[in-house]
Amino acid sequence: MAKKTPRIAVYKFASCDGCQLSILDLEDELLEVGQRFDIAYFMEVTKAVKKGPYDVGLVEGSITTPHDVELIKTIRKECKKLVTIGACATAGGIQALRNWASVEEFSKYVYAKPEYIQTLEKSSPISEYVQVDLELKGCPVNKYQLLEVLSALIAGRKPNLPTYSVCMECKMKGNVCVAVAKGIPCLGPVVQAGCGALCPSYARGCYGCFGPMESPNVKSIAKKFIELGMDKKDVILKFRGFTGWSKEFREVNGLIEG
Ligand code: SF4
Ligand code: SF4
Repeated sequence: MAKKTPRIAVYKFASCDGCQLSILDLEDELLEVGQRFDIAYFMEVTKAVKKGPYDVGLVEGSITTPHDVELIKTIRKECKKLVTIGACATAGGIQALRNWASVEEFSKYVYAKPEYIQTLEKSSPISEYVQVDLELKGCPVNKYQLLEVLSALIAGRKPNLPTYSVCMECKMKGNVCVAVAKGIPCLGPVVQAGCGALCPSYARGCYGCFGPMESPNVKSIAKKFIELGMDKKDVILKFRGFTGWSKEFREVNGLIEG
């Protein structure tokens, strides 16, 4: 009997759409992805919708409104497997910068009629509200890692994703370490690989798009930044980027204050 084509749905919450666009950015492989999956729901691409349930849900974006909370619970019920893609969905994204301040205060400055704004106090990763089967990190996700995840889902195997740091990619490229050679604070040693060490390849320190690697030694690198001459406040801010609300990075204040 012919194997059933897996049905895939792609969803968006608070985000810039960049990770969804990484699917379209597959270019050479896109036709094959279209043949191997039944793309049943993908509003970025088409308004044509095939009703659920779906085999796989790819979710971009963070949860920021009461409506989002209800929707993600419905989506969880609709999808056999739920995969979150990108820094917003896995760590709250750049919009989680508000999590350290009062969202009400921000609303007063940004909107003429803040009383019409319905928002949650925090921007949160999807896993804070529903069970997630796999998290694919990155801002945006790496398209080859995305392809690996899709292939693994079809084959029913575990995807082969790196757990090592950006430093490893940096070394494989033969880069001169910007931290050692130039004293530039670089988050690479605690950030998960995925970008091919893009920033150090252009003599810049890593900003942390892919979030914490497995078991990152955040305390040690924060201490190193202080040795390099950064004050504590700047070290804390250095971790508050695309993935600042990830569990390991959000705890940096306590680590260096203690
Ligand atoms: S430049 Fe950054 S990512 Fe590259 S080896 Fe040095 S610390 Fe690691
Ligand atoms: S900031 Fe870090 S993770 Fe992001 S592209 Fe640059 S090196 Fe890669």
